[in-house]
Parts: sequence; structure tokens; C-alpha cells
Amino acid sequence: MIYLDNHATTPVHPEVVEAMLPFFGTQFHNPSSGYRAGKSVKKAITEARGQIAELIGAKEEEIVFTGCGTESNNMVLKSLARIYGRKQSRVVTSEIEHSAVLRPCEAMEAVGFEVARCGVDAGGRLRLEEFRDLCAGAKGFASVMWANNETGVVQPIREACEIAKEAGYAFHSDAIQAVGKVAVNVRDVPVDFLSISGHKFHAPKGIGALYLREGVRFEPLIRGGGQENGRRSGTENVPYIVGFGKAAELMKRDHAAVAELRDHLEARLVSEIEGVTLNGSREHRVPTIAHVSFDRCEGAGLLILLDEMGVQVSTGSACMTGKQQPSHVQKAMGLSDAHAKSSLRISLSMLTTKEEVDQAADAVVKAVTKLRGVQGSGGVGPVMVYS
Ligand code: PLP
Repeated sequence: MIYLDNHATTPVHPEVVEAMLPFFGTQFHNPSSGYRAGKSVKKAITEARGQIAELIGAKEEEIVFTGCGTESNNMVLKSLARIYGRKQSRVVTSEIEHSAVLRPCEAMEAVGFEVARCGVDAGGRLRLEEFRDLCAGAKGFASVMWANNETGVVQPIREACEIAKEAGYAFHSDAIQAVGKVAVNVRDVPVDFLSISGHKFHAPKGIGALYLREGVRFEPLIRGGGQENGRRSGTENVPYIVGFGKAAELMKRDHAAVAELRDHLEARLVSEIEGVTLNGSREHRVPTIAHVSFDRCEGAGLLILLDEMGVQVSTGSACMTGKQQPSHVQKAMGLSDAHAKSSLRISLSMLTTKEEVDQAADAVVKAVTKLRGVQGSGGVGPVMVYS
């Protein structure tokens, strides 16, 4: 199979597996134990914390390990909700967030918080003037994603952060689809909080981190034995933490090669198939996503055909319980339902090869031709949720 769904999850890198193995075996000890073996495990955690910190320009003590990206987002939003309270604070976010921000915001709204959601332009980027207006006249906290999980469009995060901070807001960014793909540095962009997830860049699923800028107020969600400096209790998931650190180290490389592969794929699709549209900003995007619409073709049908042909991709539009719905992201960008439903998200990683991209392009050409030839093609898509 050719795997081109790397924004759903990535394969664990062999070097990551190798780094993790000793911690499933001889180095199984509890990092809080006082003897040498425990201390050596603790040292491995510290090293991994340093690797994550280095990847985003943070200090070691500003990194808290969590169970996943969803937990990081919930931890920070629930902490802010408790600190600010619902009476006089506003939550400003965007219309294109992942459900791991959308759902906590809805939960806050249900208990009386004022939640303002900023729109995006046709390229999928936050409308900054609207964002400024939404922040005006109240205080509170803001949450804007760094890069969108469907389109890969990178948001004007520095500008949004500056606007929010000038207006007196605390600022969080869900950077889960950006870290490891584009430069994310908390020294350059002064976010207060930032969420990261390991499985998006070749670490296993089930490990994440939250960056907490030194000195910010934070209320732990999970209390217990005081691990992670009291900010996230629970005995540490040592092998995964070590693997996460190793993956961060691998991600320090240049992303030009994968961008070239993605551009090659897009160029082939555009030149070999008529009625192809590349969605989202060309200029501001991660190097790993091609988000493409094919006239007179349903993404859901294409996905099934491509799977049969040995190529794994996502539809470009989120699907819910058997009924393909145009995604909230593409709606926010003003795309028609038909256009949104005809799209695919083809996503690459540092492990993708030119041969795979060429074979995938051949398969897409065949699948689109076949589907367009089938009368009444389309129909109901599979059950699928974007990640
Ligand atoms: N936020 C974004 C933008 C994502 O793409 C994902 C991935 O699915 C998440 C949050 C959730 O991360 P995790 O799968 O680690 O819980």
C-alpha cells in the first residue's frame, strides 16, 4: 500500500522504535524511584523534554507531557476557563479549528461563556481585521490553530497572537499539524500555550505535549502524584516520551524535499486531469498536504477506488456517520458543497518517496477517469472523521 494520509497519522519512524525499545525492557523502572535505575529513566525523560523544547524554541521546564493532542487542548482551555470564569471574559477562536478545540469551546458556551468565532478568507486564512474586532471591548483568552488539519493552510499566527495580546488576551495555538512541518518557534511568536501531538510526526499515537510559557497561570486538569511539576499527574509514559523526543530530533531537518514531492504530485494531477482545483492558499501552507478537488467526482468514491488500487488518502471533506457532509473548514472558506465533496486530502511525510508519489498520481488519474465514466457515480461516503 502507498500511504498518503500522513496528516491523519504517521508511521512510527524506525529510529523512534529503536529509541523506545529499551524502555519496554530492561529500563522499565518508575522514574520517581530513588535508586539508580529510576534516576536513569528520569534522565531519559529530561532528555526527551529537551528535544521537544529545542524543536519549538522553548525552555525544558515549559514543556508538559500529555496523553495526546486532544488532552493538551482540553487541558489549556479548561484551565483558562477556570482562571478567567464566565462572567466577564470572552473566548475568541476561529471557525476552522479541530474538534479538539471546537467541542471544548461549545462546552464553555453551554455554561455561559461568550464564544466568538472568527472566519477565514477564500484561501483558508484567518480574517485578521475581524479577529481584531472580536477581541475588542472585552478580555479573555483566544485559541487559533497554527495550521489547518484539512487544507494544511498556515494561519497568520504571529499577527493573531499580537492582536490578542494587545487586547489583553491569553493566547493558545493548536500547533498539532504544524510542528515538524513548518518552523514553529515560541521565541518568535509569543504564544502563551501551544499544543503538540507525537503521532503527527513519526512518534506513536497517545503522546503529546503542552507548552506553557514561563510565568503563565495554569490550573492542572489531572491532579495526583505531582508528576510533570504538578501540572499533569500520572506515572510518565516513558517509552512514548523517549520516542517523542527522538521524533522531534528527526524533525529538525529541512522540509524542502517533501515540498518538492508535493508540488510534483500537484503538477501531475493538474496537467493530466481536467477540472482539477488546488484548494487553499498556495503561499501559506505546510509542505505535506495537497488538497485537491476533481469536478464531477465524489471524494468518497475516489477514496474507495484508490484504496482498492493500493493508495490510502483522505476525502478532502469530513464525513459523518455514513453521510458525507461538506466540512466546516471548506464551508468557512466559501466553497460550494459540490466542490467540497469532490475533494481529496493527499498528505505526505518525510518517508514518502518519488516512486510512491508517481504511482499515486497514476492511480488518481485512473480512478478519476473511471469514476467520471460511471453513470450516477458518487453516492454516500464511508464513515470517516478527519484527524
Ligand atoms: N488538533 C489538530 C489540528 C489535529 O489535527 C489533531 C489530530 O487529530 C488533534 C488536534 C488531536 O490530536 P490527537 O490525535 O493527538 O488527540
